[in-house]
Amino acid sequence: MKHFHCGTLVPGCEWHTRANEEAEVVRRAVEHMRTVHGETIIRENMVDNIKARITESRDEKAA
Ligand SMILES: [Zn+2]
Repeated sequence: MKHFHCGTLVPGCEWHTRANEEAEVVRRAVEHMRTVHGETIIRENMVDNIKARITESRDEKAA
């Protein structure tokens, strides 16, 4: 599973998401940024920033 915690990018935000595919995690994270943090223009470097913070979690216990 790929895991992204928004707090690594937006300090104080507790939102996080998990999916099998990195692309799905990025998609959800971008949607979260847009709806919660008011980013109407998703810059390419934001996607890079999200990708750089995605971590691998092997199973539910490790998450
Ligand atoms: Zn957030």
